[in-house]
Amino acid sequence: MNLDLQEIDGTRHQVRRTFSAGLLRSDGQDDYEVTGDTTIDLAVRKDEATFRLVGRIEAVLELGCGRCLERFSWPVGLDIDMLYLPESESSDEGDVRIEEADVNTAYYRDEQIDLGQLIREQLQLTLPMKPLCREECPGLCTFCGANRSTTTCDCSDPWEDPRLAGLKNLLPR
Ligand SMILES: [Zn+2]
Ligand SMILES: [Zn+2]
Repeated sequence: MNLDLQEIDGTRHQVRRTFSAGLLRSDGQDDYEVTGDTTIDLAVRKDEATFRLVGRIEAVLELGCGRCLERFSWPVGLDIDMLYLPESESSDEGDVRIEEADVNTAYYRDEQIDLGQLIREQLQLTLPMKPLCREECPGLCTFCGANRSTTTCDCSDPWEDPRLAGLKNLLPR
């Protein structure tokens, strides 16, 4: 899944790769699972030892709903803009050039950029704070725990119809 930087001879290079879900499996370490093919489309610009990767990642993730806990499919398309420097330079003080706004800086080693790692990190950053299977997901019943987006239950709603409350008063005690 590596991008071999030695293969990039010109100053501009176009890269398009597709990775199957198995290659990006996280073994439960992330809050998401990749379920379909992931494509990464990059324009690579080389400036001496610096590589700028601008492009897009498209993936289909599976997340757990924050309300009903069901797993649901979440297609993602995200734009990336990364600046890669050789790892040896990371200890230098002269980091002036890096501080361009909106550009993430990373380091590469042995003339390789691990695209799998890049994809996983970028996907992690794009996850919603509280994923919902749908905006109006009713979540779980607070009484019996039934998933109210797929089933109904007999628990009474804490909200009581005032007309029923009125009828109750007519009943003999
Ligand atoms: Zn839900
Ligand atoms: Zn219930």
